[in-house]
Amino acid sequence: MTNMNRRNFVATLGLAGTVLLAGCNGSEQPADDAQTTDETTEEASYTLVKEGVLTNVAELGFAPFEYIDEDGVTVGFDVDLSNAIAEKLGLTCEWLPNQAFDTLVPTIAQGGKADISIAGMTIDDTRLEEVDFSDPYLNSNQGIVALAGSGETSETLDVEGVQVACQTGTTGNSWIEENLPNATCVPLADVTAGMMGVSTGLYKAMVIDLPVAQNMIAESFSDLEVVEEIPTGEQYGIAVSYDNPGLKDAINDALAQIEEDGTMDELKQKWFGTTEV
Ligand code: GLN
Repeated sequence: MTNMNRRNFVATLGLAGTVLLAGCNGSEQPADDAQTTDETTEEASYTLVKEGVLTNVAELGFAPFEYIDEDGVTVGFDVDLSNAIAEKLGLTCEWLPNQAFDTLVPTIAQGGKADISIAGMTIDDTRLEEVDFSDPYLNSNQGIVALAGSGETSETLDVEGVQVACQTGTTGNSWIEENLPNATCVPLADVTAGMMGVSTGLYKAMVIDLPVAQNMIAESFSDLEVVEEIPTGEQYGIAVSYDNPGLKDAINDALAQIEEDGTMDELKQKWFGTTEV
């Protein structure tokens, strides 16, 4: 059904021309019948679920990367970045309703619903078996969150009967399974539920991406702290289907421009208060 509905819009554009378009008026939709005599112009073609639109899917409880604000609007670093990419490609951005994190890779692999998942998602070998990724756009590590002053460490937590929360299917989930073999790992769909559980004593700790831990503590959980930073050296990438290599190339091209023209630094400054992320 999804495949039947899929419009399989094919955008053909000259990559060399895109830069010029973006410089004057980037809203022009690249046309199938664009003729060029410029021999240096490369051609990239990609499919989109919906014509003229970059359709995103993510788990929307991952501030400051993607979350729903008090007005019900989907906002965050990844949201701004996706808008910036879409703008470079002459597209607009749409977000599907919230999905559990562990459904995102299968959704992209299956195709037909979303073009990309930009979701604070770490590029890793297991995921690369199912989907392709853009070039990395941000570095991240894990953090162990526990009650402030509790003195918990990865050693005190690795004890039978100790419950450590994480978001299901994340790198934090794998880290607990590999590094705290004696503890009980508690995978949850929702990050806030995990933080709340640590706050109320239901769980001893939560393992989660460091920037998200820091943001949640600053915004809503002053009783919690990052008791240990784990230098996992992760890199976030944008998940794209292997069936759509032209889209990956176009996104990488846009990302390079976004790095070069200062947009990336602006977004880091806006969401993290520093460009050193
Ligand atoms: N970066 C982590 C991962 O890719 C967590 C992502 C998330 O929860 N949105 O597994």
